[in-house]
Amino acid sequence: MQLQTPHGSLSSRHVAVIGAGASGLVAARELTREGHRVAVFEKDEQVGGMWAYTPRVEPDPLGLDPSRPIVHTSLYQSLRTNLPRESMGFFDYPFLTREDPRRFPGHREVLLYLQDFAREFGVQEMVRLGHEVVSVELVGEEEDDSITSKGKWQVKCKNRNNEFVEEFFDAVVVCSGHHTQPRIAEFPGYKVWPGKQIHSHNYRTPEPFRNKVVIMIGSSSSAADLSIEISEVAKEVHMASRAVPHDKYEKQPGYSNLWLHSMIKSAHEDGSVVFQNGRIIHPDIILHCTGYNFHFPFLKTNGILTVDDNRVGPLYKHSFPFPTFESQSKWVAAVLSGRVVLPSSADMMEDVNTHYSTLEASGIPKHYTHKLLSANDYNSWLAAQCQCPCFEEWRKQMFIEVSKNWHIRPRTYHDEWEDDDLVLQAHQDFSRYTSRGLCNGSLSE
Ligand SMILES: Cc1cc2nc3c(=O)[nH]c(=O)nc-3n(C[C@H](O)[C@H](O)[C@H](O)COP(=O)(O)OP(=O)(O)OC[C@H]3O[C@@H](n4cnc5c(N)ncnc54)[C@H](O)[C@@H]3O)c2cc1C
Repeated sequence: MQLQTPHGSLSSRHVAVIGAGASGLVAARELTREGHRVAVFEKDEQVGGMWAYTPRVEPDPLGLDPSRPIVHTSLYQSLRTNLPRESMGFFDYPFLTREDPRRFPGHREVLLYLQDFAREFGVQEMVRLGHEVVSVELVGEEEDDSITSKGKWQVKCKNRNNEFVEEFFDAVVVCSGHHTQPRIAEFPGYKVWPGKQIHSHNYRTPEPFRNKVVIMIGSSSSAADLSIEISEVAKEVHMASRAVPHDKYEKQPGYSNLWLHSMIKSAHEDGSVVFQNGRIIHPDIILHCTGYNFHFPFLKTNGILTVDDNRVGPLYKHSFPFPTFESQSKWVAAVLSGRVVLPSSADMMEDVNTHYSTLEASGIPKHYTHKLLSANDYNSWLAAQCQCPCFEEWRKQMFIEVSKNWHIRPRTYHDEWEDDDLVLQAHQDFSRYTSRGLCNGSLSE
């Protein structure tokens, strides 16, 4: 179908969105705004994705068994956002108070915000809950390398009655999340070590760690957050990280039972664990806070798209914090309508290969291929492509201030900060949308 708009004749396409988390919801909104017809497939019985917390965990605590029943969320009970609400919300739908007025609220507050967003913009009606996509495949001929070629995407899904249904689409936008499939640390002996090993995906509360000797592997924000609550109940906590020099062994200031080590050298059948710094301990539990693997079991692309050590390729401009999802969604919607014209396949491959070479030259490992090294540059590029406003100055500045604050006050950054001037600027900006009645929630916090 062709649409007549101020930009000329745009195409309206039939688009499947897989997943109704933050990225799927905003993708559906932007695709619809651009004039596309959208169906959102969601395997869960509610929208919100990762933010739909459940105390349930998977039966295989390391997540190695491919046939295990999957629990999507990786959130733990006490989780508060690691970004302030001002910078987490979508551009014209600020993240205002629902139930939890804190600047860094608990997870339920984010779920309520996403549910309101879905209702407010009519996305809820597009979502087919209880529909798990099991296969996505390009069928029919591709005549050329343009987006308008004849191929159709066949999407097969299993509904809540275990019936299989299939439908054809012009395009598929994958928003299935990438914080569900555990990536574990494979140190020598990890398979024979007899103690309990868990990935943070299956962590909910510190209770199982009470009075235990614990090794936590990783140095991400999850590892830092969890070490605080685990050290309050555990006998000893030993944090091991690749980022720590080989000979390091240091008691952490402000704690009586928390030590920082270099990485594990080996683990043994007698229960001992040896660190690269030479220390030997006998822990009860090893908790892997080592991140996640990209996993798209439903994609059948005959090798056109591959996932190798977390490099999804070839992927032009990484199309996969909420405002970035929003900018990406605007760009995808504009590409599908023809408002933004993609370069030729050869030029896009060259761009992808240049990105790989730059990473290699800087010594950045392959599994960080899609980590945004310069989020500001990336967002400015997306905004220029779609001719939409770039990130506001206060938002850019707030990312910097929040990150600084996290380093200065790792234990209290949720409740102490010094960027109130930026919060004020954010709220002045938000009043443009609240006065148009565009957002639920209260601006009173
Ligand atoms: C512990 C933790 C803390 C975090 N804290 C923050 C934070 O404070 N601030 C922040 O901005 N971000 C945070 N994040 C990142 C968070 O993942 C993103 O904010 C966001 O939720 C990702 O949204 P998404 O839509 O891409 O994926 P998800 O929220 O994971 O949603 C994906 C959806 O796809 C569905 N799905 C998957 N496969 C299929 C299928 N085959 N068929 C149908 N449906 C399918 C899932 O059921 C799910 O609903 C955190 C992540 C983790 C793991």
